Amino acid sequence: MVGQADKRKSFSMTSHVMLGVLLIHLVLLPILYTTIINIYEKNSEEQFIGHVREITGMLVDVISAEEEIIDANKTILLMEYALLSGEVLYIELSDDYDVHLTPKDSMSILPDDFIEDDHIGHHDDGIYFISVPANIQIGGIAFTTFKLGFDEAVVTERLALVKKSSLAILGMYFVSIMVLLGYFTNVITKPLRTLREWSRAVAEGETTTEVTLATRISEVKNLAVDLEDMRLSLVDLAERMHYKAMHDELTGLPNRSLNDDRISGAIMRAGREDDSFAVCLLDLDRFKDINDTLGHGVGDEVLRIVAERLNSGIRDTDTIARIGGDEFCAIIEGVERVVAEKLAIKLAGLLEPPFQVNGHTLQVGTSIGIAMYPEDGATPELLIQHADVAMYEAKYQGLKVASYHEDMDKHRFEDLQLSVEMREGIRSGQFEAVFQPKVDLRTGHPCGCELLTRWKHPRIGVISPDKFIPLAERENLIGEMTKLVFDKAAAQLKQLLDVHEDFQVSINVSPLNLLDASLLDDLEIIMQDCGFDATRLVIEVTENAIMTNPLRSARVLQKFADAGIRISVDDFGTGYSSLAYLQKFPINELKIDKSFIIGLHKDSQNYPIVNATIAMAHDLGMSVIAEGVEEIQVMELLDKLKCNRIQGYYLSEPLHFPELKEWLNNFDISDYR
Ligand code: C2E
Ligand code: CA
Ligand code: CA
Repeated sequence: MVGQADKRKSFSMTSHVMLGVLLIHLVLLPILYTTIINIYEKNSEEQFIGHVREITGMLVDVISAEEEIIDANKTILLMEYALLSGEVLYIELSDDYDVHLTPKDSMSILPDDFIEDDHIGHHDDGIYFISVPANIQIGGIAFTTFKLGFDEAVVTERLALVKKSSLAILGMYFVSIMVLLGYFTNVITKPLRTLREWSRAVAEGETTTEVTLATRISEVKNLAVDLEDMRLSLVDLAERMHYKAMHDELTGLPNRSLNDDRISGAIMRAGREDDSFAVCLLDLDRFKDINDTLGHGVGDEVLRIVAERLNSGIRDTDTIARIGGDEFCAIIEGVERVVAEKLAIKLAGLLEPPFQVNGHTLQVGTSIGIAMYPEDGATPELLIQHADVAMYEAKYQGLKVASYHEDMDKHRFEDLQLSVEMREGIRSGQFEAVFQPKVDLRTGHPCGCELLTRWKHPRIGVISPDKFIPLAERENLIGEMTKLVFDKAAAQLKQLLDVHEDFQVSINVSPLNLLDASLLDDLEIIMQDCGFDATRLVIEVTENAIMTNPLRSARVLQKFADAGIRISVDDFGTGYSSLAYLQKFPINELKIDKSFIIGLHKDSQNYPIVNATIAMAHDLGMSVIAEGVEEIQVMELLDKLKCNRIQGYYLSEPLHFPELKEWLNNFDISDYR
């Protein structure tokens, strides 16, 4: 990791090598030098001394060869000859009593100067003094010592020269070594420096430059190859990470960030070419139910199939992205609104054929909202936001596709305002109940009624539960609403229970109600207060509410059952649960959803479903009620199918209490048959 390296001061390889070599040479070169000079000095001294002794021996021989007739003058002459050679600087014969015989020429050096030398340079007089014993009789004097002084200059001058040239050679050697070293370390470190600069660039994110290096050093070359491999892996990794960051793992589609980028790109292109394009937001209806009831595995598979189908419906240049759980976005470029709407309808159509997943046959509905650039927004955020508003509107109006319009924002604003007003509305009694009667087909008598809530809004008028129930759930006011409305109606309903035997009252319990532990307690208190027998209350719970959290639902429903309250499965057939599974819950009744009942006849495709549901429910000990009975034929058909009870506009619309009472009093089944 960059910056994690050893913090101690570091030096370059060149300076390390140079310093090392310098130190080694500073130690070795003087040793080498002194050794050479010593050897040379010894050698030349030995040579010189040998030479001196030879000459001395020769002189002694010459002088002694005169035998008896030795004459002082002749001897002196001989000695002068010797001096003439230039090699010999001093010559003397002396006896044991300090008598000297020496030629005048050597008198510049006095006999007293003579100090015998051990080696060259001894006594620092530039002369090598040597004495040898002699036995020469001259004029009655017995000369016993022959003394000579040789010029040392030959040796010392040559030594100085040798020293000088050795120093020069060693110096030259040293300089060339350092230069060579400098050169070679540079040859090694230069590619290393290049590699370093390159790796720094890579570390700073510059991963596009290939490592190229001209070097013959195999280690460095290998390092360069390895680094290049590393760069390629990094590039690969970075690309994969980028891809991952920009795509949805499950479907492989672009994700929200990439979608935003693509919208920005489309805005740039459209701006340049003065063109328009569409952002279509699409979400799946009731996808949560699929996830909750059939599990995430099935949900995931559905999303994958949705992605495939949507992808097959657009051009390669357009984008389908998954921008949320069950939210997709299509960017369709170069189109006008009319074309975009047609394409959106086509996309929605692609999701219509049933999905086969894990043996389940699933129907996945969708709503698509369209926002156009540039009319509906000039930024990705605004386009998405407005497409979202349009999608919300499509859902609200039960349309497949809706195109954004400014008025839609008003609806949103209204919803917001309603949410704010709802709390006060509930407390001030703006919510009230209407009742839709039910009839038992076997007895032909009214057997109960369903309590349906209305909001009498002071400004807007009556608001339908389809609009305010979702808001009440979102605002977490649904529990309070349910209790207050039932509380207000309970005493009146009690009157009906007293008059009509077997009469039951159904109330709707939303998924959130079901999670609220206090609901049962509160209902029981209300019933006790007015003497309402709990066995005559039915709660209608949708199968999706049960399946959202089956374990918890089982516990809660059991408590209701234990309290004697009956349980009906509302909107049956619109969810994904099976009867076999529902059997595990304490359920008394199935309420077949009105979408199966409205317009039912023997040849309709719902007929076998309704038929089988009734038969199976009876086998499982549940009774069946059909809602949405609008025509006599449907009633008769249901009668044949042994459906226990019916409810619907054919009998009556939901009524206020006085009308309900009247309706019940006047009811005669023969009016309807
Ligand atoms: P739901 O429980 O399925 O209620 C039946 C709905 O179908 C009622 O609409 C009713 O007026 C309508 N309906 C009755 N007969 C027919 C028919 O023959 N044909 C057609 N097309 N429709 C018929 P409503 O009253 O607008 O209620 C809508 C939904 O709002 C209800 O559907 C229910 O889920 C919910 N809801 C109503 N009141 C409450 C409440 O107090 N609490 C909760 N949690 N939900 C409620
Ligand atoms: Ca209901
Ligand atoms: Ca229903």
